[in-house]
Amino acid sequence: MKNIEQNPELDFARISVLYANTNAGYFGIATGVLFFAYIVDQLSTINAATIWAIAVGIAYVPRVILSIQFASRMKKREITSDNIKPWEHYFFLASIAPFLLFSSAVFIPFGVNEFDALLFFAVIVMTLISGSILSYSTSLPVIFLFLNASMLPLIATTFWIQEPLFNALGAMLFIAYLLLSRLIPRQNRLLVENIALRIENEHQSLTDPLTKIGNRRRLYVLIETLLPSSLRRKDPFTIVLLDIDHFKQFNDKHGHSAGDELLIKVSDILKECSRDQDLVIRYGGEEFLLVLPSTNLEDARILVDRIRGAIKEKTDITFSAGIAMHSELLTFDQLIEQADKCMYIAKTEGRDRYVLAK
Ligand code: GH3
Ligand code: MG
Ligand code: MG
Repeated sequence: MKNIEQNPELDFARISVLYANTNAGYFGIATGVLFFAYIVDQLSTINAATIWAIAVGIAYVPRVILSIQFASRMKKREITSDNIKPWEHYFFLASIAPFLLFSSAVFIPFGVNEFDALLFFAVIVMTLISGSILSYSTSLPVIFLFLNASMLPLIATTFWIQEPLFNALGAMLFIAYLLLSRLIPRQNRLLVENIALRIENEHQSLTDPLTKIGNRRRLYVLIETLLPSSLRRKDPFTIVLLDIDHFKQFNDKHGHSAGDELLIKVSDILKECSRDQDLVIRYGGEEFLLVLPSTNLEDARILVDRIRGAIKEKTDITFSAGIAMHSELLTFDQLIEQADKCMYIAKTEGRDRYVLAK
């Protein structure tokens, strides 16, 4: 498994889960706040209850806005694995005030009712912690912020008051705190490893094992998003179907492993010559497909010329290619068919050339 800590794709999955889970968590928090506000109202004063509940509610506003921002940018695909990392930081920062204000409940003056109130508060905190372990455990900083902010003031208060039952409660809570401090990183590790495994699996299922470029499955994943967005933005894309000439002869002459090496070399050249947004996949044995977003036939021709030059320079084989541009009248299968026909014409006309679809 690749380095778990430094993997942008893993961060993307982890932080997406953190935000997605939190939306459900707000109901838990709201319930906890309303319930404890009721307790405060019963045991202390209506003023204290109102002030505390409103303060907690207001403190959560920036984080709710942050969650809404995140969801909307995610929908617009503005958040990617390259820029998601700061969002964990923002989440952490936006959580400090609400967590601290929530735990400030232990400082509300309860007078003779202090033990009752603390007992209720301890129950709420422990319940919210089980919820937060579910919600925040893909982010260790956030979960520890919650654990420390909600439990330490409570534990400190129970020890501060000179009363054996209070201290016993404090001792139990402190043991729970220590146990959770050990349990949470273990759970986090399992969860993150699981996500990493899933990502690696996905990668493998979309990658050609020999050349390490995408396979047909990778193509279908791209097409699912490229087709609708290209039609919507009236921004056509072009495909290039490319087949190595007389590859059977190459294999017969140099051996199958040399053939494999050549396929790897050709893949590398195709990757080097294309842009970041282009998709290069191994379409079949010695056939490759390039999908070039926002590219017309003329620009594709320039790219294929560049590839031809590079292949000539670095290998002693040639290729034939068919180039076709997508239009709204064509399905993707029909587009492939067009490129395939052009490639076939290139072959019959003598190979080492490309043909553009009309
Ligand atoms: P053409 O110019 O008409 O395309 O001729 P060709 O020999 O390239 O095409 P043909 O379809 O007759 O043969 C393709 C060859 O590609 C046959 C097959 O053994 C070889 N091939 C397919 N996949 C691999 C691979 O993974 N490794 C190697 N070394 N050879 C492969
Ligand atoms: Mg072929
Ligand atoms: Mg061939």
